[in-house]
Amino acid sequence: MISKKVIVAFEKLLGSENVFLDRTRLSLYSKGSIDRYEHLPEIVLQVQSAGQVTVAMGIAARHKIPVVVRGGGLSTTGAVVPVEGVIVLDMKRMNRIEVSIENGYMVAEAGTTLFEADAACSGSSIRFSIENYHNSLYST
Ligand SMILES: Cc1cc2nc3c(=O)[nH]c(=O)nc-3n(C[C@H](O)[C@H](O)[C@H](O)COP(=O)(O)OP(=O)(O)OC[C@H]3O[C@@H](n4cnc5c(N)ncnc54)[C@H](O)[C@@H]3O)c2cc1C
Repeated sequence: MISKKVIVAFEKLLGSENVFLDRTRLSLYSKGSIDRYEHLPEIVLQVQSAGQVTVAMGIAARHKIPVVVRGGGLSTTGAVVPVEGVIVLDMKRMNRIEVSIENGYMVAEAGTTLFEADAACSGSSIRFSIENYHNSLYST
């Protein structure tokens, strides 16, 4: 069980709006899109920057709390189902993209969906290939 002291540390350092504790919200993170089994996480952290990832992982490591990182939750292998005492780290708000058409590159944060990456270079000579349109709307 994750202690109150740890939860308060997350709220203080990440902002309480980025720390989800209520059952209804947690239930959205209890399994991947097609998993048959599920488990309610105790806490979900929605990070918005690399700095916040560092803070979250630092606290988790210090208290030896395992972390499940979650992108779109489309894993087909149960990879995002939390187990007892786990923190879920939601990456979806880390979706900033930098595209340099003239230099032919894109830098995308870890929560960027495949669709967002493709859209960011549309109209240019750069392509970010999408295999499956519906999957691309959520997969990171
Ligand atoms: C209907 C459907 C259609 C699909 N079609 C395709 C397809 O056409 N082609 C294809 O390749 N796949 C397909 N998949 C599989 C799925 O889309 C891929 O596995 C996809 O890469 C999952 O991305 P996600 O962001 O949802 O990852 P998640 O399910 O959120 O996470 C997958 C794994 O990566 C880890 N992870 C997530 N983000 C990070 C991070 N930032 N750092 C470290 N670890 C991280 C998670 O902990 C987990 O172990 C499909 C799945 C479904 C349900």
